[in-house]
Amino acid sequence: NASRLLGKTVLITGASSGIGAATAVLFAKAGSNVLLLARREDALKEVQQACIAAHKESGLKEGGNFAPIQLDVSDRAAIAGLWSKVPSNLRKVDILVNNAGYVIGREHVGDIDESVVDGMFATNVLGLIAMTQLFVKEFKAQKSGHIINIGSIAGFEAYVGGSIYCATKFAVNAFTTSMRKELVDTPIRVTEIQPAMVETEFSLVRFKGDVNAAKSVYAGLQPLTGQDIAEEIVWAASRPPHVNIASEVIFPTNQA
Ligand code: NDP
Repeated sequence: NASRLLGKTVLITGASSGIGAATAVLFAKAGSNVLLLARREDALKEVQQACIAAHKESGLKEGGNFAPIQLDVSDRAAIAGLWSKVPSNLRKVDILVNNAGYVIGREHVGDIDESVVDGMFATNVLGLIAMTQLFVKEFKAQKSGHIINIGSIAGFEAYVGGSIYCATKFAVNAFTTSMRKELVDTPIRVTEIQPAMVETEFSLVRFKGDVNAAKSVYAGLQPLTGQDIAEEIVWAASRPPHVNIASEVIFPTNQA
């Protein structure tokens, strides 16, 4: 029931493209306020405009506040200073969507640069943990909250050429499962979304802007869209308070 999202405030990391951007627009349509967090300010401003348009189209009077927050989740000091960037009317956050993440390359383990290993762990794992720790404190104090982590099927199925990325997503899976169990005595809900192939900027980032290499990943199948995943995230967030969608695994119909 989407009416449960009316007037709620959602913070989405990685909101400048793909799954995060689609999720922001869908929450906007449902009458929520959205804090849009990522590194690319121009892209965030475009998503902010899309949110404003979606909210206007919905005709809802609740929600409608959208703020871009330029922040790198791999920077712990920046996360510690998050509140100074959040407009005062949006400081009570109800839902945190930890979505920022990426993969670079598909080299085998001996051929991967240290900086690539450190970068993926800093964003996909340490950034997600730091954001979560900040919000668990807030959510405990306000006695409500929902943390939605974007994992991947790479969090339970490792593949050749994915050693580091899979390790980061296995870590997200372990972290999210432990946290859900630790928080059962609180009203805080914890959800993990584990998508298979979604066509976003993900592959473009993976292949450092090589459009043909990025496209080749989806040859022979119809990938999911950011919108498909956004619908699952918004659905999980709009369940009644006593229902916790612990995890969702989403595949394209023709991906094995
Ligand atoms: P995109 O590349 O389109 O989006 C990734 C988002 O993360 C961007 O908004 C990017 O913004 C942001 N981001 C990356 N690094 C940082 C950082 N250090 N600090 C803040 N924001 C950051 O890809 P997707 O939408 O596909 O990816 C979203 C999530 O979904 C990721 O966690 C990914 O691992 C996961 N996923 C994706 C799948 C797919 O096939 N596409 C499958 C399974 C899971 P900016 O560059 O502006 O900072």
